[in-house]
Amino acid sequence: MKQQTKVVVAIDGPAGSGKSTVSSALAKRLGVERLDTGAMYRAVTWEALYSDVDLSDGDALAAIAREADIDVRPEMVVINGHDVTTAIRSAEVSEAVSKVAANEAVRVVLVERQRRWIDDRQGGVVEGRDIGSVVAPDADAKIYLTASREERQRRRKEESADCLASRDHIDSTRDASPLTVPEGAKVIDTTDQSVDDVVEEILRCL
Ligand code: C5P
Repeated sequence: MKQQTKVVVAIDGPAGSGKSTVSSALAKRLGVERLDTGAMYRAVTWEALYSDVDLSDGDALAAIAREADIDVRPEMVVINGHDVTTAIRSAEVSEAVSKVAANEAVRVVLVERQRRWIDDRQGGVVEGRDIGSVVAPDADAKIYLTASREERQRRRKEESADCLASRDHIDSTRDASPLTVPEGAKVIDTTDQSVDDVVEEILRCL
């Protein structure tokens, strides 16, 4: 890795824990960019569904992750020229994404892309499930957000309770980089906290 000149903040946690809202506000405060790595896994999943790829075909999924032109920005997600900003949030993609993300070969490729994103920008706020544990274990701050199940479901109204529970289960029990509290991470329960309070707490870790 190159020398970082800006801070790297790793934000992990389950669905609905507040990662995206907190990461956006934090990135703004720090004057750095934010990467939503979940959107990358979602984009690969969308492409697999769109191209009728069998989701149990690991090699085909890894080929998509490796060869696809993926552009994830806060306001727009594009894969192979398709604007999938809205489509990657569909029930179909939400139901399939954890299966795709459990594939080790897919993860190897996307982790590499995520590290390159950090190197290119010399830092940033990166959110996901394995950022503090795998993608950027040397981050300046490692944060693990949690919230009660009821609150997480309230925040993810568009997703069924079954789908959310199934994603949580697959994400935290898979063999390849499961969702876990990274070593040295600060755990913050966002259930009853304002975004500003959580951001302040993270800033105090830097
Ligand atoms: O963050 P979001 O809920 O959009 O992520 C969608 C899915 O992508 C997660 O449920 C998980 O399966 C996968 N993911 C992952 N590793 C990451 C980010 C997301 O496995 N770093």
